[in-house]
Amino acid sequence: MSEVSASNAAAPPRKPRVAVHKFSSCDGCQLALLNAGEALLALAERVDLVHFAEAGPMDPEAEVDIAFVEGSVSTPEDRARIVRIRANSRFLVTLGACATAGGIQALRNLADGDGWLGTVYASPEFVSSLAQVSPIREHVHVDLELWGCPVSGRQVLIAVGSLLAGAPPAVPDERVCLECKRQQAVCVMVTRGAPCMGPVTRTGCGALCPRFERDCYGCYGPAERPNTQALGRRFAGIGLVDEAIVRRFHFINSQAPAFLEAGQRARGHADD
Ligand code: SF4
Ligand code: SF4
Repeated sequence: MSEVSASNAAAPPRKPRVAVHKFSSCDGCQLALLNAGEALLALAERVDLVHFAEAGPMDPEAEVDIAFVEGSVSTPEDRARIVRIRANSRFLVTLGACATAGGIQALRNLADGDGWLGTVYASPEFVSSLAQVSPIREHVHVDLELWGCPVSGRQVLIAVGSLLAGAPPAVPDERVCLECKRQQAVCVMVTRGAPCMGPVTRTGCGALCPRFERDCYGCYGPAERPNTQALGRRFAGIGLVDEAIVRRFHFINSQAPAFLEAGQRARGHADD
């Protein structure tokens, strides 16, 4: 090939660059993404995965088109790191309950955090943690929040496809109850009096728990316009004491405002 024709050859289009970052979390959402199998391999053909420590590539300071963030902010180092990631990213997407609403570790916000540190660690003075655990949106702008504990790998890949196509990703926010009807799952609250969070929880999981005769524990966070007051009264009607109602709302998504407020309301009754 001559020098002229070589210089005229069109360069291949740059692939979008994607990173997956971890904060305070159990890694389950990254595993859910890895478990997406063939769909993930197909995505890997279309993008450059520049940082995804659990899968291999490591370049945490890389500039990217899409940054996925798993986990919540719980240390001063986390707080500085999420600001750098935001500055390096065109779109920032939270992955799962920890990143989106604090996760299970945010329960320490509702208790004596220092007391817990002293219980868990032999030398708590060496542990540098913030007074509160917080979701990513409390620190930087988030373009898209994906819920679940863990997140649905399929939902993540659909969201990436939409972002890369320049279309706003559609994330369902209707209730798990509607999905139960579509899947013909028998209602565990009506038939067994189970304290199901489905009436106030967003779907995205395909009503996974009720389909296996388990009550939903709210891992996909609040649905649109969740009537938590009515559900709290229903829980009391099926025999839950106030403290048990608090625990239904203050669990994996305790920092989601609707669940935080519902738990505080029930806590108020418990303290009466
Ligand atoms: S949302 Fe659940 S599965 Fe995902 S990192 Fe947090 S604890 Fe793990
Ligand atoms: S039914 Fe509820 S707890 Fe179970 S996976 Fe779905 S949202 Fe999570």
